[in-house]
Amino acid sequence: MGPRKFFVGGNWKMNGSKKEIEALVDVLKKGITGDAVEVVVGCPSIYLQHTLCLLPSNIALSAQNCYKVAKGAFTGEISPAMIKDLGAPWVILGHSERRNVFGESDQLIADKTAHSLSEGLRVIACIGEKLEEREANKTEEVVLCQMNALKPAIGSNWDKVVIAYEPVWAIGTGKTATPEQAQEVHCILRKWLKEEVSGAVSESTRIIYGGSVTGATAKDLAKQPDIDGFLVGGASLKPEFVDICKAGL
Ligand code: PEP
Repeated sequence: MGPRKFFVGGNWKMNGSKKEIEALVDVLKKGITGDAVEVVVGCPSIYLQHTLCLLPSNIALSAQNCYKVAKGAFTGEISPAMIKDLGAPWVILGHSERRNVFGESDQLIADKTAHSLSEGLRVIACIGEKLEEREANKTEEVVLCQMNALKPAIGSNWDKVVIAYEPVWAIGTGKTATPEQAQEVHCILRKWLKEEVSGAVSESTRIIYGGSVTGATAKDLAKQPDIDGFLVGGASLKPEFVDICKAGL
């Protein structure tokens, strides 16, 4: 695994209740011990405080979104400062559901990323192509365009960022990318980091895969040289999340 600690994020999306979160965290606490893997769970903003009180010290908390400024007349939004104030160190930005259901642009995601980093939050930055883009052989173009939008926003803060490559066609569909398909894109991203940022950043930045990862598919994906972990949706609500966390060990 080299210099990159295996990283597994759970994205609970808009799921859970106080009771369900208590039961899930109980399972995670028993199954995930030690800190050989960096584990982060992204919970709905309304449950951040509740989840924070339950989590053990080896599992960190993430918000699933935030706005691009510290405070003001933005009804319904939460700011990085609020997430930080609560005690959550991470935020997921640019998730395909934010991009495609809520119409977030590359520029808005870049602004949110820049502001989150300036407030001291760590960012799981999501990118990925749609099915029609893959079928039109545009995967590289699309993901590098998304990376180019993020680059100035990240600046010198690459050590605070994890890149999540999540092909949109694989998210929530049960169609996991094959290890070879995922590796091919991760390799392109690592090369881009080397050429566009630096060799050191290319070596140290975690590039994680997301898209229908399960306990059954995680092990083979984790064997790929440029896959440094996972962002997990559906399976992060189930006990198999523990197996996914252990896939890189
Ligand atoms: C996600 O929400 O980031 C995701 C990858 O979802 P799923 O694992 O359910 O495909």
